[in-house]
Amino acid sequence: MSKPPFAGKNSSLVRAHNLRAVLNHFLRAGAISRAQLAECTALSNTTITHLIDDLLTQGIVMEADAHSARHNHEGGHRRVGRPRTDLQLNPNARYAVGVHIGIGILRAAVVNLHAEIIHNTIVEFDTTLAAPRVLNRIARLVEKTIAGSRVANERILGLGIGASGLVDYDNGVNVLAPNLGWREVPLRDWMQSRLGLPVTVDNNVRAMALGESMFGAGRDVGVLAFVYGRVGVGAGFVVNGRPFRGSGAGAGEIGHTVMLPDGGDPCMCGNRGCLETLVSEPVLIREAEKLVRRNPRGCLARHFAERNGSRPIERIFAAVREGDADALALIEARARYLGIALANLVNVLNPELILLGGMFAQGSEFFLPVAERVMRERAFAGLGDRVRVQPTQFGWRAGVIGAASLALSAFFYHLEDA
Ligand SMILES: [Zn+2]
Repeated sequence: MSKPPFAGKNSSLVRAHNLRAVLNHFLRAGAISRAQLAECTALSNTTITHLIDDLLTQGIVMEADAHSARHNHEGGHRRVGRPRTDLQLNPNARYAVGVHIGIGILRAAVVNLHAEIIHNTIVEFDTTLAAPRVLNRIARLVEKTIAGSRVANERILGLGIGASGLVDYDNGVNVLAPNLGWREVPLRDWMQSRLGLPVTVDNNVRAMALGESMFGAGRDVGVLAFVYGRVGVGAGFVVNGRPFRGSGAGAGEIGHTVMLPDGGDPCMCGNRGCLETLVSEPVLIREAEKLVRRNPRGCLARHFAERNGSRPIERIFAAVREGDADALALIEARARYLGIALANLVNVLNPELILLGGMFAQGSEFFLPVAERVMRERAFAGLGDRVRVQPTQFGWRAGVIGAASLALSAFFYHLEDA
C-alpha cells in the first residue's frame, strides 16, 4: 500500500497499515474510545495510544463531544451517555476535491473528511471540444474551486475524478467515453502534472456508488448498485465496501445492454437497440417534442414554450406533475425498460440496495413505481422482492461527492489497500 501523505516521513508499512485500520473505524463508527479501537482493530493499547497521539497532534483526531459527534446520526451507532474520552475524526482537518465529468457539464467541489461540501462550482462545455481543451477547463475549475473554498493547499489530500465511460483505474486513463468522443485520455497523469496534486480517476457512476457506500445510504450495505441516467445510462457496484470494476473496468455498462434484438435505434457505442437508446434524457426529450407537435396547445407544449431557463427534462417532469397524461404515459412506457434492466442487474449481481441517480432520481416519483414493479415481476425466483430501490439522497451532489470519495478512499482512508 502507499503511505498516507500525512503519516510522516519515517512511517513504516506496518504503521501505515495500522493507521488505515484506525481511520476506517473512525469512518464507520464515528465516535469511538481508545479501548474500543484496540478491540476492533486487534491492535495493542500501546500501538493505539501512539497512533492516536500522533493523529491528535496533527489535528486529524479530536475529543468527541455531544455536539460534534454528528457523523453518528446516519450510521445508527449513537449511544447515549458515552464517556467523554471518545475520539472522532476532525472532519475539517483535511479536504479532497471531486470533479464529476458529465456530458457537457463539469461539477467540482471541495469536501471535508465526511464528504460535506465546503464549496462547489459548475461549468458547461461543448461536447464537440477536443479532450485537451476540456482538460484545461477542468484544471481551471479545480483551481477556482479550491480558491473559493479558502482551504489551504497543504490541507488538500488530492483530487478524485469521476469520468464518463470506461476508465482504467490503475493507470488513470479514460479509455473510452462514447458520448464525448474520447479515447485513451490520460486524465490522471495530465492533471497530476498540471495541478501538482495526487489524482485518482474512476468511472463517474462507480464513484457515486463508492460515495454512497462510504458516506450515504450504502453504509453497512454488502452489495450496492447505483444506477444513473442522464445522456447515457450506467451503473456502479460496491461489494463489501470496495468498488467492483470487473476484469477490464467495464462492470456496470448497463446502458449498452441490448434491449431490442432487431431494428433498434443506433447508439453512440456503435451498436443498436441499447438501453440508453430507449430511456435516457435525449430520448425522452425527443419523444416529448413529438408529443408537443401532436398537441401544440397541451400542457407539455406550454411548459416547453415557457422561458424560465429550466432544462427540457425538468419541463417534462413539471408537465407530468401538472397532470399531463401523455407525458406520464411516455415516462411510464420508458420506465418499463429501466425495470427490465434492473431485473437483469438483480439476476446478475443480486444486490441488497439499488440507488437511482440523475434523471431517475429527479423524476423518481414517475420512474420508480413502474421500474420497481417490472423489476420485481421479471427478476428470477423472487430475487427482486428482497432488493430495496430508492433515489439517491445526494441529488445533484452524488457526482462530486462520489468523485471526492475516490480521493478520500485512495489518499486518506485507503480502502483499496486492504
Ligand atoms: Zn450502446
